[in-house]
Amino acid sequence: MKVEILCVGTELLLGDILNTNAQFLSKEFSSMGFSMYHQTVVGDNVERLKKEFELALGRADIIVTTGGLGPTKDDLTKETAAEFFNKKLIFDKNSYDKIVDYFNRVGRTISENNKKQAYFPEGCTILKNDHGTAPGCIIDENGKIVILLPGPPREIVPMFKNYVAPYLKKYQEGTIISKVLRVSGVGEGRAAEMLEGLIDNQTNPTIAPYAKDNEVTFRITAKAESEGRAEKLIEPIEKKVREILKDSVYGEGDTSLENVLGAMLIDKKLTIATAESCTGGLLAGKLINYPGISEVFMEGAVTYTNEAKIKRLGVKKETLDKHGAVSSETAAEMAEGIAKTAGTDIGIATTGIAGPGGGTEEKPVGLVYVGLYIKGKVMTRKLNVPGDRQRVRNTVVNNAIDWIRRSIM
Ligand code: ATP
Ligand code: MG
Repeated sequence: MKVEILCVGTELLLGDILNTNAQFLSKEFSSMGFSMYHQTVVGDNVERLKKEFELALGRADIIVTTGGLGPTKDDLTKETAAEFFNKKLIFDKNSYDKIVDYFNRVGRTISENNKKQAYFPEGCTILKNDHGTAPGCIIDENGKIVILLPGPPREIVPMFKNYVAPYLKKYQEGTIISKVLRVSGVGEGRAAEMLEGLIDNQTNPTIAPYAKDNEVTFRITAKAESEGRAEKLIEPIEKKVREILKDSVYGEGDTSLENVLGAMLIDKKLTIATAESCTGGLLAGKLINYPGISEVFMEGAVTYTNEAKIKRLGVKKETLDKHGAVSSETAAEMAEGIAKTAGTDIGIATTGIAGPGGGTEEKPVGLVYVGLYIKGKVMTRKLNVPGDRQRVRNTVVNNAIDWIRRSIM
């Protein structure tokens, strides 16, 4: 069955709010196996809304609207839908009592306007709102289903999960299951190239690459009559992807590079300290995102000036004079210096030119050295990172974390 989303709200058109309802509903419908080919955003305007109903119903079997079920004048989705379907709005005493109840519970007085929320198109199924005042409803007639949902995300999410999804169960043609593999240290282009043969030859499951914030994810999606069967389809493909991308696959599902590294450090009982110049604490901050990191994270120093590098880390003045602060030699001494003074197994250091100023022909913006000390051994890495200041700093941080991960695997 084909489904369409119709989000109602002028504030969406003005860019005042992000359309997270569309994202939420898209995910839900795709995992339920429905096809979606169109999504629309329309302002709070009766004529335009009616037009969109007409268009959407010409294309899809199920239309889901969000927003415009509230008590105010510009909330007119339900009224417009009723008019479109030629249906009277009928007062529902049960819903009205619940709205009164809700107002009593939150200690507010009910306004006359709120009464409008207890009127529904004749013959529809009413959806309780457990987290707000505006109930939703479903009009299901002549092979077309229209589902009207409120706007606030905290109301729509539970309403969908508790009432809409179970209602639609009988229309579901299968289940879609996805597994996300997270990859770091290889660009999207390169990773997709490595998987080319595999990606091209798949229809079920499909493999979709997606690049985001210094990492690439591959979503393997299978459609089958049951969850178990879909999982079985994913298994061999996942195995192949892992065989091809090897260590570059750092995790799966909802995780992050710093979470994976944090867990590894704790598991291996390896302590760590950071010495940062151009990343200015961003690396320490990222590592500390991981709850429980206090077991292994000892110290983070932001040593921005040459004096700080000398005083805090014991970088040699001669090294700075001869090679400069942005050099492999300085990065190495910073990494070793922080590990030795903090008494940790691992020391990680960054020094570079984040820009936009400060670059020279010899040392351009984006040139960064990362130093990594692990139990007596020091290594350095030279990076040339494109992009603006924030991009350079974020890329360096991710690169450093990934390097530590690979080094202790
Ligand atoms: P209310 O009873 O609060 O008036 P409503 O059903 O009438 O709810 P709207 O008035 O359209 O819904 O929107 C209420 C609020 O819900 C918006 O101000 C916004 O914060 C949020 N909202 C609405 N639509 C969306 C959307 N598509 N994505 C995310 N948030 C939304
Ligand atoms: Mg409203």
